[in-house]
Amino acid sequence: MNHSLIHTKLSLWYEQNHRILPWRETNDPYCIWVSEVILQQTRVNQGLEYYLRFITRFPDIESLAGAEEAEVLRYWQGLGYYSRARNMHQAAKRVIENGMQVFSPDPHALSAEERYQGFLSLPGIGEYTAGAIASFAFDLPYPAMDGNVYRVLSRLYDCEIPFDSTEGKKHFRQLAYDLLDRKHPGKYNSAIMEFGALHCVPKSPDCESCPIQNSCLGYAHHTVEWLPVRKTRTALRDRYLNYTIYLTNDLQTLIYRRTENDIWKHLYEFPLEESNQLLPADKNVISIDFTHILSHQRLHVRFFIKKVSELPLIPNCIIVSFASLDDYALSRLTLRAIESIRRIDSISE
Ligand code: SF4
Repeated sequence: MNHSLIHTKLSLWYEQNHRILPWRETNDPYCIWVSEVILQQTRVNQGLEYYLRFITRFPDIESLAGAEEAEVLRYWQGLGYYSRARNMHQAAKRVIENGMQVFSPDPHALSAEERYQGFLSLPGIGEYTAGAIASFAFDLPYPAMDGNVYRVLSRLYDCEIPFDSTEGKKHFRQLAYDLLDRKHPGKYNSAIMEFGALHCVPKSPDCESCPIQNSCLGYAHHTVEWLPVRKTRTALRDRYLNYTIYLTNDLQTLIYRRTENDIWKHLYEFPLEESNQLLPADKNVISIDFTHILSHQRLHVRFFIKKVSELPLIPNCIIVSFASLDDYALSRLTLRAIESIRRIDSISE
């Protein structure tokens, strides 16, 4: 396989086809970090709006480190996977408190390996994010392997090892290092990621117009549609969550902040009772049901809306007006329930 020909063709393809996105127009490592964390589980269109809002409010690592976690979570609200925001906030604080140089724009502040290992030492930064910041901001020779890159590599090398297995991760990492363009690692990483996102797509890629078709073993062996191979998924864990939304006549309600090491840590929600199955609906109480899928869990959820003359005393709960709920960091599920309730005239009147 002619690596330098692949570099040239991918680079040309990138120049002609890449999307113009704000994090590609900068080499500020902080901005690149924020964009990469947002894009880990989020599509570009949705992520762009969050990125712009986040960077406007927290334009540098100092402002992020100095913010309250609750505010950071509010800016993340709706993106899901809140541990990403908590980790980023923790990492920013650690960098500032310890005077770490990893985000210093001075290219000579640290050696390449010190910089890369420094990123890896921070909460929430794994090999992908460390490689992305190091190569995009400083042009350091580390691969950035997201799902798009795994797909392109598996087809290019016709590799049937499941990319998410221990053996697969090691093998693909070696392939990525072998193919990396060490003269222009930042541009090469951008090009192969964008090529996977826009051209070598999961279903029916347009191989006939592909600039690297001549090098693609998957194309030559007619295995493209089967690649990449993924490990069998573990079954989702079912959970049953029963929430009670108490509402007084003047639309006061109760919420509490989750503290345990579980989903939605530090977000607010309505009083919860978790059980082995959903509690039975009551014809005298309005209830709303949802099924909510997270990466490893399937949540069966019932919200009971109880109109009361006085709010009960429940440990750790605070009284807030229903209208002010938007001021709190809430899970996407809680937001869905609130939106549904606002559409029920008899409640919001
Ligand atoms: S030939 Fe098809 S499968 Fe191979 S890299 Fe190009 S688009 Fe992807």
